[in-house]
Amino acid sequence: MKMGEKELQDAARLLIDSRHAIALTGAGISTESGIPDFRSPGGIWSRYDPNEFGTISSFMENPTRFYEAAGEFLSVFTADPNQGHKALAELEEMGILKATITQNIDGLHQAAGSRKVIELHGNLREAKCLGCYAVFPIAILAEKTLQKGEIPPRCDRCGGILKPNVVFFGEQLPKEALESAFEHAKRCDLMLVAGSSLAVSPANLIPMVAREAGAELIIVNAESTHMDTLASHVFRGKTGVILPKLVEEVRKLGSGTEEKKY
Ligand code: NAD
Repeated sequence: MKMGEKELQDAARLLIDSRHAIALTGAGISTESGIPDFRSPGGIWSRYDPNEFGTISSFMENPTRFYEAAGEFLSVFTADPNQGHKALAELEEMGILKATITQNIDGLHQAAGSRKVIELHGNLREAKCLGCYAVFPIAILAEKTLQKGEIPPRCDRCGGILKPNVVFFGEQLPKEALESAFEHAKRCDLMLVAGSSLAVSPANLIPMVAREAGAELIIVNAESTHMDTLASHVFRGKTGVILPKLVEEVRKLGSGTEEKKY
């Protein structure tokens, strides 16, 4: 038996036996798609000051500065889902994962085939007007800033400043997504956390609420998190490697079981 195989089998067994399993993902699941996370060496915060670029007040103060640096974030548009995203989509397809709650704004879970995705921090498919709250397809930002040189881009309806429909530090999280995430956390019996430092609140309260409600935790991350000691299984490494292995074990152990599709 290879190293770690028994632990993978045990974690796969938890997934198979779960009644309501959910996933919580962070920026780490998308680094293998070429999108930098915030906190790893070389991550976004090692190159930009979060107080200058990440907060709603800095955006409101100087939207031009944000748009001049926005090229980095446009990399999201060319990224493809990786094996980690695909593994979670497979677990949903098997009937095991009931929802994927994500802190990511890149839309890669949906691109991989996940259907029940709860986006806590908004998305990069849309732009939103800060004046009248109208929502437009994100392409309007590139069209206005890159093609027309309109920096900052403004709403054609009311002249308000447009911003990507993502949650900046200091902004409220979308109410419906947050409520739905905590509802899943309260009723789940297993939470699979993948690629999150669990440093960002309130997303990091979700596994805590699940744990307090009696759920087991499986954590897959490149580095340790402050919740590792609460987890039944911790896998240290790449989500694009470990999650497919977990799915493989689920297939092996679960074949022949009714209800769920292996
Ligand atoms: P984070 O940057 O705080 O933590 C990412 C974690 O993933 C780190 O602990 C890192 O060690 C780990 N990691 C990196 N690559 C990994 C890999 N291949 N496999 C396993 N683990 C890996 O990210 P977070 O916890 O999501 O929270 C920060 C914020 O980042 C969120 O608010 C999110 O909205 C935002 N963000 C999103 C994206 C995106 O949409 N892809 C990108 C950058 C930041």
